[in-house]
Amino acid sequence: MGKDRLAARIRELKGIGPVRGRLLEKIGIKTLRDALYYLPFRYEDRTHIKSISCLNPGTLETVRGKIMSSVIRQYRERTGRRQTRLEVAVDDGTGILRAVWFNQAYRQKSFIVGQELFLSGVVQTESRSKGTPEMGHPEYESITDDRDSLIHTNRIVPIYRTTEGITQKQFRAILHEIASGPGLTVHDPVPEEVLKRTGLPGLAESLQQVHMPRSTTDVSLLNTQGTPYHKRLAFDEFMLFELGMARIREATARAQGISFVAQGRLLKRLRALLPFALTGAQERVITEILGDMKGSSPMRRLLQGDVGSGKTMVALAAILTAVECGYQTVFMAPTEVLAEQHFLTLGRLATTLDLTVELLTGSTRNRRLGKIESGEVDIVIGTHAIIQEKVRFRRLGLAVIDEQHKFGVVQRTLLREKGIHPDVLVMTATPIPRSLAMTLFGDLDCSVLDELPPGRKPVHTMVFDAEEKQEIYRIIGNELSRGRQVYVVYPLIDDSETSDLRSATQGKKAFERIFPEFTVGLLHGKMSPSDKEEVMKRFKNGAVQILVSTTVIEVGIDVPNASVMIIVHAERFGLAQMHQLRGRIGRGTDSSHCLLVAYKPLGDEARRRLDVLVGSADGFRISEEDLAIRGPGEFFGERQAGLPDLRVADMLRDSDMLEVARTETAGLLCGDPGLSAYPMLREALDMFWKEKRELFTTG
Ligand code: ADP
Ligand code: MG
Repeated sequence: MGKDRLAARIRELKGIGPVRGRLLEKIGIKTLRDALYYLPFRYEDRTHIKSISCLNPGTLETVRGKIMSSVIRQYRERTGRRQTRLEVAVDDGTGILRAVWFNQAYRQKSFIVGQELFLSGVVQTESRSKGTPEMGHPEYESITDDRDSLIHTNRIVPIYRTTEGITQKQFRAILHEIASGPGLTVHDPVPEEVLKRTGLPGLAESLQQVHMPRSTTDVSLLNTQGTPYHKRLAFDEFMLFELGMARIREATARAQGISFVAQGRLLKRLRALLPFALTGAQERVITEILGDMKGSSPMRRLLQGDVGSGKTMVALAAILTAVECGYQTVFMAPTEVLAEQHFLTLGRLATTLDLTVELLTGSTRNRRLGKIESGEVDIVIGTHAIIQEKVRFRRLGLAVIDEQHKFGVVQRTLLREKGIHPDVLVMTATPIPRSLAMTLFGDLDCSVLDELPPGRKPVHTMVFDAEEKQEIYRIIGNELSRGRQVYVVYPLIDDSETSDLRSATQGKKAFERIFPEFTVGLLHGKMSPSDKEEVMKRFKNGAVQILVSTTVIEVGIDVPNASVMIIVHAERFGLAQMHQLRGRIGRGTDSSHCLLVAYKPLGDEARRRLDVLVGSADGFRISEEDLAIRGPGEFFGERQAGLPDLRVADMLRDSDMLEVARTETAGLLCGDPGLSAYPMLREALDMFWKEKRELFTTG
């Protein structure tokens, strides 16, 4: 293989030089390859240049003509402020168009009479211009030589996000130079056979077409990055991604794990203990998990299940299997409240089965560390304190991580170091669309609990205006008088001077006043763990009927008798968060109510979120909607450390390509695990992952 021409530095390109080179480097374009993968963010169809005489008012049009005059008019507004109006008259032989800029007189110097230019903007015909069509603040580009007309007009023109110091035109010319240069001899890493099978275009052609599309290309397809050329580039990234993931998976599969061969004695006793039968989905997922555990390579499995689908029982089945084989287990929750709650419920069951259970959170530290180290403790339930403290296990065999989106990759790694290669089960109620799940947790196998336990009554979700207090109180009073319990969630703990949002502390007082015959409890993150535990216990056993809280109850709290969830300032909460909160109710057999109390002003996005919640109880749909409203970046909050960047591909938009890439990757690896027949693919793979793999390999 020849020298990698695309690795050449951008500042060495003819006509760029150090100054512009630095500017380009600032936006991540260091090499020719970087430039080629810096795609236009939109395209403009300039193939349809309109005659000025045929312009349609109110539409976006493009014309090409000669500058006849440019004048600056000064005038005073009614307020007395001085204003300028720059008018540039352009003639294309069929008529005259006036381009107008307000208070941008400095632009005049770019309009030289006699020069040809090209304008694109929305056409207006104002009465004061006596029928002469006008464009207010149009985009424009002058045509200085013939080459210009090849690059910037008469074609579908790419528009780039450029950077200060480089104009759109200069930027486009640079990219044109690189993409169409005779030097664009790129090595296509994708094997011929794959291209043939998938019908995807070649790499060089794709790179050229995304930068300099043919005039016949569908512009709307270009603008949604949906041309076969865009798809091809997305495919490449997915394929390299999948290949890398496959390598990681293979490496973990080779690692020596524990083979848990249990007779199922404890599991059998658990079944007898439960007041219900496991759902079909629970049974299926337990079979999948026990299958993994039996195998000799360490389990890495992601369990997805909507709120209330019964993930805890599945986890317990895995835990019992490990314990029966003589190993210790860890159940890690994201918050102390949740850890404590699991300790109460799971702990009680496990104790009945004669197992030893310990709670280990930030505030229980150092209590029974010796017992854990000696191997006396079978199950450690806790928070991340488990991995932060100097906790040593004698024989850690399994770690269950609940609500994993709160745990980063790093934490997973740390936990694994506690044992040799313990099995890991990660559980999440944030239903991540499949394509994304694979990407984020690509080194995990995936199980889905797609069935709720029977007898669940749907939750009625309603939006209330904050002024409709009486109706809200009526519903609450109704449920309370039937012996049911109520959650009220606030965005804040205390009143704050900087905000006029209602707070939990305030709310508690209000509810005590309105419902004097009932007991109101308060729960928030700043309370001491023992106080929190106390309140939760009292709510669980019914001594507290109204639990006023912040979002500390977001995940996992389970009180089947609670039938009302009130979210105050619902306009402030995220979609997934509210779905989680709503999941706290509807766990009993009576119907439940979720009241979303919104304060004005209500933005469009907030309105949409509330509508989605009212319209759907399906966590997967809600999370897709959430993703659509917020975009993947925000959806996951923090970036997933160690994953390579996708420059072209978009998990959601190109999910079809992700599927194809997955199939093709599997096919290639099956025939040639070492990719020995594909040196270029191997090279591309190494480049794509660079040092990332080390970060991400957790095995
Ligand atoms: P999540 O998936 O949200 O963690 P949980 O494990 O907390 O759900 O379960 C929610 C509730 O459903 C709990 O009260 C649990 O005891 C109950 N549950 C779990 N499995 C079943 C089942 N098969 N039938 C009836 N109730 C179940
Ligand atoms: Mg749970």
